[in-house]
Amino acid sequence: MKIAIAGAGAMGCRFGYMLMAAGNDVTLIDGWQEHVTAILQKGLYVETETAKNHYQIPAMLAEEAHGEFDLVILFTKAMQLDAMLGFIKPILPAAKAVLILSNGLGNIETLARYVSQDKIYAGVTLWSCELEGPGHIRATGSGNVEMQPITGLDVIMAAQILSTLNEAGLNAEISANVLLSIWKKAAFNSVMNTYCALLDCNVGQFGKLPGALVMAESVVQEFVQVAASQQIPLTAEMVMNTVKKVFDPRESGEHYPSMHQDLHKGRLTEIDYLNGAIARLGEQANIPVPVNTLLTRLIHAKEAQ
Ligand code: NAD
Repeated sequence: MKIAIAGAGAMGCRFGYMLMAAGNDVTLIDGWQEHVTAILQKGLYVETETAKNHYQIPAMLAEEAHGEFDLVILFTKAMQLDAMLGFIKPILPAAKAVLILSNGLGNIETLARYVSQDKIYAGVTLWSCELEGPGHIRATGSGNVEMQPITGLDVIMAAQILSTLNEAGLNAEISANVLLSIWKKAAFNSVMNTYCALLDCNVGQFGKLPGALVMAESVVQEFVQVAASQQIPLTAEMVMNTVKKVFDPRESGEHYPSMHQDLHKGRLTEIDYLNGAIARLGEQANIPVPVNTLLTRLIHAKEAQ
């Protein structure tokens, strides 16, 4: 399959090299000049648990995006999505499908302003990756992908995307309710990312703090109420079960969530698409959301610091 990955940071590069290694014709598209230049000059340098390899993958700057692709995979941070779609407008009409796996709420709505609904596939992934520097990723651990065509119409294309991801070892499956999965992951991230970033701790340390479960529940309860107003059948139990699981140090106890890393590197966070989305949607639906509103303000204050 001819695949463009728009937003070739940590995750875009991880999916990019795995899809290329499985025989697909992959192009990485990104807005970071130094990163694109490094990939073009030396190849993408990938470190895994067992190997270190350079992968020669075609790459282009977002503002120069061109060509025809069967599938476009979007992997920007949520706040970069709109700008990326603006840059890659020239490649969108020819694409048969556009898949978005970025975290956060509102990405599908943004995508629908550029691409017809029948071409949109959305999902969540438990793969992870770190961008060590321009043209260099550390890709450890394993994961999976849950995805679904938004309209459910093109079952042939959905099956093709699924087998392409699975041939690359990405462990993909068609979700029964991808919107629920997206909300569940957003609620979980709105607990872990936000509190660990504010309290400057990892997941295990947060789990040991007095009141951690109460703090988590207060975020999740507001998520559940706003989700119900959007006909998303999210329950507190669905999210809290995962929260309790990762508090166990044998799970992901020593992991620092990405928002913690973003704040420490002086970068903007995805807060407006996590707690911030609940603050916004709650206000629109007249649902009180004081916890998520305050947490959003606190993260923005940290960004400003
Ligand atoms: P990323 O920050 O690695 O890349 C996103 C964009 O930021 C890319 O365009 C990249 O080039 C640019 N960028 C990164 N560092 C830069 C720098 N120093 N200077 C200039 N530009 C820079 O994002 P990601 O971690 O790949 O995440 C993409 C999406 O996937 C997000 O929604 C994230 O929440 C989600 N996600 C990430 C992981 C993970 O382990 N990284 C796991 C699951 C989901």
